[in-house]
Amino acid sequence: MRNRIKILAAVVLGLILAVQLLLVLFPFKNLSSFESKPVSKVFFDDTGKLLQVTSLQDGTRCEYIPVADMPADVKKIFVKAEDKRFYFHNGADSLALLNAAVQNLFNKKIVRGASTINMQLVKMINQNSDVTVSRKLSDIFYARVLEAKRTKKQILELYLNNIFFGQGAVGIGSAARTYYGCTVDQLTREQICCLAIIPRNPSLYNPFKNPASCAERASSLYNKIYHKKATADEFAKFLPVSAFTYPYEAPHYIRYLVNNLEDTDSSHTTSTYNLSINLELQHYAERLVNDGLNMATESRISNASLLLIENKTGKPVAWVGSADFFDNNHSGQIDGVLVNNQPGSSMKPFLYALALETKDSLGQSMYTPSSILADIPQEFGEQELYIPSNFNNRFNGPVRFRVALASSLNVPAVSIINSIGVKNYLNKLFELGFDSLKQTGEQADLGLALGAAGVSLKELVPAFAVFVRDGKDFAGNQIYTSDTARLIDDFLSDKAARVTGFGYSQVFETKYPSIFKTGTSNQYQNIIALGATKEYTVGVWMGNFSGQTVVGKTGSSLPAWVAKSLLDYIHGNEVSYSRLAFDEPQNWKKEKICSLSGMIAGPDCPATVYEYCQEGSSRGKCTWHKMQDGELVTAYPAEYQQWVRKTRPGLQVEYSDTPLEIHSPKNNSIFYYSELQKEKLAIPVEVFGGMQDTLIVLYDEDFYTEIERPFAFSLPVEQGVHTCTVICGEESQSIIYQVK
Ligand SMILES: [Zn+2]
Repeated sequence: MRNRIKILAAVVLGLILAVQLLLVLFPFKNLSSFESKPVSKVFFDDTGKLLQVTSLQDGTRCEYIPVADMPADVKKIFVKAEDKRFYFHNGADSLALLNAAVQNLFNKKIVRGASTINMQLVKMINQNSDVTVSRKLSDIFYARVLEAKRTKKQILELYLNNIFFGQGAVGIGSAARTYYGCTVDQLTREQICCLAIIPRNPSLYNPFKNPASCAERASSLYNKIYHKKATADEFAKFLPVSAFTYPYEAPHYIRYLVNNLEDTDSSHTTSTYNLSINLELQHYAERLVNDGLNMATESRISNASLLLIENKTGKPVAWVGSADFFDNNHSGQIDGVLVNNQPGSSMKPFLYALALETKDSLGQSMYTPSSILADIPQEFGEQELYIPSNFNNRFNGPVRFRVALASSLNVPAVSIINSIGVKNYLNKLFELGFDSLKQTGEQADLGLALGAAGVSLKELVPAFAVFVRDGKDFAGNQIYTSDTARLIDDFLSDKAARVTGFGYSQVFETKYPSIFKTGTSNQYQNIIALGATKEYTVGVWMGNFSGQTVVGKTGSSLPAWVAKSLLDYIHGNEVSYSRLAFDEPQNWKKEKICSLSGMIAGPDCPATVYEYCQEGSSRGKCTWHKMQDGELVTAYPAEYQQWVRKTRPGLQVEYSDTPLEIHSPKNNSIFYYSELQKEKLAIPVEVFGGMQDTLIVLYDEDFYTEIERPFAFSLPVEQGVHTCTVICGEESQSIIYQVK
């Protein structure tokens, strides 16, 4: 008898083990894909403000929380509410099933589910909500399979993170945020009870639509668990009041991140990202971009984008892909930060920097800041003739290296790339991170000097930052020497040097040290501005995604205004800017040179400037200026002879001691103000003569600007009668003009 019992016990035990083994091994094919479902990601700005909780493909959100991070109250309340014997049954609750079976028998229909957490989970995993007996049996079976394959903790985690709460919230993490605008660990017991009621019937117990039924069930659950006697009315105050409005900030950047994270972040719990984005600056940048567009209503500019990075890390602080993400009429979902557009002249600093570092076959620098470049009609290239013209369709003859860059002159840029080699320049651009040029760079050939091959703001902005980072990129590579970078900073912050190309433009006036470069693509499809201080670099693109020609824009105005306004917002109110000051190049010293020939100034040179010269290099005195029979004669090199004849007829002496004269406009001129071309309008002023090299300009009797030769600048167009006075040493001249 004893032996029989032993055998029987062994058989029973064996059977139980066999069943258990069978359950463990039984395939549950939907389980692992269910466990690796995508979940929401949560993004914060650099101050901890919520930027976005990403939606899933079906529009719901699921902030997936590991069971270890789940507050004890949440686990307790949900288990009590849904499956109080959860920790004691093996997947299906036999007691509850028996009870249900009896009731069903009496009622002759299925009235109670007796669904355990496992069984509810099985329904979700197998996505079947049939209410048939065979379905029920299958659920019970899979509930046991699940129990055999996973721990109680894992099952509870899966359950709490996958139940549907209505309002697009999947799982308790998203329910907490959607209903109470908080995280799961901030929920009170009363709030958890309210939430625990909802999944039973998300529309019936929706606390916004049916607060009374929700409060009634929630209070009774609460009373049962905590032995209290709260009434439904008393409980109403714990109900959520309104659904949380999910922010949708920095939409383009976060979409970019999510697309690029997919490969690296395969965790199925919700990841939290603390981004470098600053929401305040992001909002301000969005506003500026829209203000800029509103000012451009007369041109065909329909969209704009902006990227602001911090120069310490290169990480984005503001990323505006388009003026309005939701504006489908203007392809608002396109991310202009990532789109390749022709950058035009905004690329020139990279070329000029390389030029400063290129040596000839004798090991001598091919270019220095005082090199003279010929801005005269020229042909380049062997196969094709390439005759670049300047933005203002004017040629300036001999120009200093500094002026050629700051004024964005085209012929000098092409002559530089022609002499240092397209390949060399292209390799430098690759070093700078312009990967998109690997496709198109070679084809652009000499046009590369003028930015004829498309690049993105995402490439352009960090590359431009190299100049204010002493030549280093964000990986720490020394792309240019620190001296080269500092020289470029000096050129690009030189207001006087820009006059040749743009006239005097207030758009670049900043209280703090800054550099700017603008660009316009060949067909005026894109206008770009880059700006930087030591701490931030910003790039702005304007145009339209359809590639239509932009009209009525001078290229440097609106994007530059946006870029400058953003830097003003960041730096404008500081007391001291000493920490933003650009450093002096170490191996260069300023010397007085002839502003025409670039050589060391001689006694007869009529105009001189101070320019960085390499220490120790022996440089001759100016040979262009000579006194002959008591008269100053300018001996231009042969290549300029034709240009001199055309542009300076009968004029051998450019700037001599002729009396100061406002050459244009003439006194009592009348200008007609046009609303249509407001952006384009400026009154160009040319002044001849004068004994000194600096000119002070008064506009309506107030100080307006101080410039060096050549004396050319622009005045604003403002309706009314105005005076302009120029002062050069002892001399002064005034004109009156009217804008109607
Ligand atoms: Zn000279």
